[in-house]
Amino acid sequence: MHFSSYWLDTSEPFVSRSPDVPDGSCDVVVVGAGITGTAAALALAKKGARVMVCEAETVGHAASGRNGGMCNNGFAQDYASLSQRIGTELANRLYLAFDAGVDTVERLVREESIDCDFVRTGKLKLAAKPEHYDKLARSQALLAASVDPDTRLLTKAELCDEIGSNHYHGGLIFEKSAGMHVGRYVRGLAKAAESRGAYILERTPVLGLQRGSRCGYVVRTPRGEICAPQVLLASGISQIGPLGWIRRRIVPVGAFLIVTEPLPHELLDRLLPTRRMATDTKNFVNFFRVTPDNRMLFGGRARFATSNLSSDEKSGLILRQQMATVYPELTDVRIDYCWGGMVDMTANRLPRAGQRDGVYYSMGYSGHGTQMATLMGTLMAEIMDGRADLNPWKDFDWPAIPGHFGKPWFLPLVGAWYRLKDGLQ
Ligand SMILES: Cc1cc2nc3c(=O)[nH]c(=O)nc-3n(C[C@H](O)[C@H](O)[C@H](O)COP(=O)(O)OP(=O)(O)OC[C@H]3O[C@@H](n4cnc5c(N)ncnc54)[C@H](O)[C@@H]3O)c2cc1C
Repeated sequence: MHFSSYWLDTSEPFVSRSPDVPDGSCDVVVVGAGITGTAAALALAKKGARVMVCEAETVGHAASGRNGGMCNNGFAQDYASLSQRIGTELANRLYLAFDAGVDTVERLVREESIDCDFVRTGKLKLAAKPEHYDKLARSQALLAASVDPDTRLLTKAELCDEIGSNHYHGGLIFEKSAGMHVGRYVRGLAKAAESRGAYILERTPVLGLQRGSRCGYVVRTPRGEICAPQVLLASGISQIGPLGWIRRRIVPVGAFLIVTEPLPHELLDRLLPTRRMATDTKNFVNFFRVTPDNRMLFGGRARFATSNLSSDEKSGLILRQQMATVYPELTDVRIDYCWGGMVDMTANRLPRAGQRDGVYYSMGYSGHGTQMATLMGTLMAEIMDGRADLNPWKDFDWPAIPGHFGKPWFLPLVGAWYRLKDGLQ
């Protein structure tokens, strides 16, 4: 068993052409080389900007190379409840931003010839309880009437064409969603950005950020200082460097995945014949899909814990049991990969992007970020060029989470509350 991301293990490593800080200045420093940072670097370089991306580790090392590879439209949360909370007009605008995110991934894959098995499989949202089916039905009626006629509700009986499991009580299909090999995707974005002239400096943590009199901002790294008039924080949960303001607003929450040995086509045709990206309605969510080389990927929140080697291993055992509950036929299959990653949650599970003290930022995708990080990376190039009106998240303020100073001490309590809700609802 490999305790590492299947996606990073099965894609060509990114080899940077920029081993040293090329010179001490550029137009934009991007902090972080996940999907947001590499998509932004590509878009900025296309506009003619001299860009340096500082990445503390390696390209895609964090959430961007560790996720489920699901490129889904729609919200992670229930559409009906969200539109009631923020209003239908705004909810629909944000919903369409996720559609645009999937379209942007598709466009970049095509334009930059990124070989990452992007396929519009559709998403299957599965009701974990009979009451959850009623919720899905309510959302689907509203979605179909106002913003997404391509959604389709399935009763428990109708699910048999979609999934070889009796575990669920109905489902909702989102046709525009897609799947991809996210390791090849994020590394492909980095390669494309470099080919347009951006520098990607791996193992270059940003340790200091100050407004400078000479040049806008002075970005301090162990490899030297970089001066730039503009800085973009594409740094996810960032646990290092001078980003305490963000750490008080983002809650890092662990999510975990296992991947089986390659499985026979006939078996997969029974388990998930349409190959959709599947996810369920629990707070302790499970999600699963088939990889491009015919393995079952099965993930979830598992324990509401942080990700590290021993935590990933414990979570992997829980996921294995959960997978066997959904698919008894997979009880004895070999597990080849097990890993985890930290999701950048905001309090209301909606992303944030904008500018603070002149520094731009985009993050907080709350587990729904392959498409939104791509869209926002691309849009940040425009927003930094004076088009703040294009920011889909401009209407949201971003107060610090009370009592949160960077270490989410309250996570076990939230986990217990979610477990209780999953039991009650
Ligand atoms: C386990 C898991 C499963 C998920 N599944 C899905 C899914 O199936 N579909 C989906 O849409 N979304 C999913 N997500 C969410 C999605 O992966 C993220 O929203 C997205 O990848 C965020 O990209 P990003 O570039 O903003 O951040 P990240 O990928 O976290 O990248 C930020 C980068 O910044 C670097 N950095 C931080 N601080 C500094 C510093 N001071 N100096 C230099 N570099 C720094 C980090 O090293 C990191 O590489 C999942 C997330 C996880 C963790």
